[in-house]
Amino acid sequence: MSGLARSGVEYVDYALNAITGCRHGCPWCWAERFSKRLAGRFGYPADEPFEPTFRRKPLDHLAKTSRPGVVSVCWMGDMWGSWVPQHWINEVLAGMLDRPEHQYLLLTKNPAGYGRIMETPSNWWFGVSVQSWSVLHRIDKLKSIARPGANLWVSFEPIIGSLRLEEEVLEGLSWVVFGAMTGPDAKRYQESDIISIKHAVRLASKMGIPVFVKDNLMGRLVMDDIPRETPWSLL
Ligand code: SF4
Repeated sequence: MSGLARSGVEYVDYALNAITGCRHGCPWCWAERFSKRLAGRFGYPADEPFEPTFRRKPLDHLAKTSRPGVVSVCWMGDMWGSWVPQHWINEVLAGMLDRPEHQYLLLTKNPAGYGRIMETPSNWWFGVSVQSWSVLHRIDKLKSIARPGANLWVSFEPIIGSLRLEEEVLEGLSWVVFGAMTGPDAKRYQESDIISIKHAVRLASKMGIPVFVKDNLMGRLVMDDIPRETPWSLL
């Protein structure tokens, strides 16, 4: 392989998985399931494939990826978990700084981790993942720790409960994505869940925030003009 692996996420072109593994222990984790399938191959440890691991090859592949695209940064784990050594993070960020032609999507459940870096290039997007109203505090934390001018986004996926979004929660965000829970534990949404997702989509759109609704939610939301926007396509 001469460049980065293609991503299966519909709004992402490439997957940069230089740091894998996670200790958050989410019961729905697709990354853990996938890591177990790759145990002993491609740099995933044979005995504990989801243990935090640094893998250099994806950074080599990034350096050889000539076509600009949208890159998910270390989504096969949480690069911003408190257990991740600083020198691993520095290596990944240095690789990103070397290739400024891409848009880089950072994502975490531990936004405090973003306090470990100083740079905020305009092609870096600092995200948190939120599954229900009970963890909206991650968005507050993201905003409180973000450096001035940083691009902030939220991945509402997999949605597992009511979102109960209000305007002040979305203020200051540059992008929001909504996606359903899929896979073996796919969620059966109640009407109240769907109403809360529709409300969130409409509210963000009304506020002028680009909104992307993933394929896995499209059939469940009966709405005119379901938005599929990315901020870089609007630049
Ligand atoms: S934070 Fe992400 S990678 Fe970590 S356990 Fe949860 S779903 Fe998996």
